[in-house]
Amino acid sequence: QSVKLIAGNWKMNGVAGSLAEAEALKQALDAEPAACRVAVCPPATLIDRVATTVKGGAVEVGGQDCHVEVCGAFTGCVSAEMLTDAGASLVILGHSERRAGFGETDADVAAKTEAALAAGLEPIICVGETLEQRQAGDAVAVVSAQVTGSLPESLSGEAFAVAYEPVWAIGTGLTPTLEQIEEVHGAVRAAMVARLGEGGRTAPILYGGSVKPSNAAEILKVAEVGGALVGGASLKAADFLGIIRAV
Ligand code: 13P
Repeated sequence: QSVKLIAGNWKMNGVAGSLAEAEALKQALDAEPAACRVAVCPPATLIDRVATTVKGGAVEVGGQDCHVEVCGAFTGCVSAEMLTDAGASLVILGHSERRAGFGETDADVAAKTEAALAAGLEPIICVGETLEQRQAGDAVAVVSAQVTGSLPESLSGEAFAVAYEPVWAIGTGLTPTLEQIEEVHGAVRAAMVARLGEGGRTAPILYGGSVKPSNAAEILKVAEVGGALVGGASLKAADFLGIIRAV
């Protein structure tokens, strides 16, 4: 299995003072290298400064969204090229908070993925069912359809990841059982291979939703869990390191 990726999604948290956390993370990994890849995805305003802060170390930097166009009259938006220019090498796409709050569809996510790849970014494409969908027994079907719709068919050979984040597990302290995680990750892999052929076999499938130092080790051992996408517990270097050290 390929090297695991632990990515932190700071969401709309972080001001200049948060750079101390990025600095602490870098220093800890300089002193004791991680057994995995580590990335932080700060808000767009901080990407440049976080990238400068962690320069020369192991920490990679990502955005949380991008526009499909390279530039133009799109007030308030940030393009994939701008993320690259600011020092990002990855970008989270199709997070459930963007799907639910900003109406992003699978087709939008697929188009953004193509834009991100064109800019040289590694997309982390998010999927996940709502509690209602899980309770109706539709989790696997919903997530599989999201994978099929959100991965551009043209994807081949480029580095990317998929993140399975059950909406009901995000920021709630609730997590699926390990069996449920294994079931959905298996379905995600199957959908990736059905969509992309051999190209769908190796990209890591991250788990996200209430990952913390105390549950990371057992989740990261589940078959087809290739890393984690961490929200709240990525804001403090000490918590995030607790997850990184669980790999
Ligand atoms: P929490 O780790 O805070 O549950 O957030 C998960 C998430 O949405 C990461 O993208």
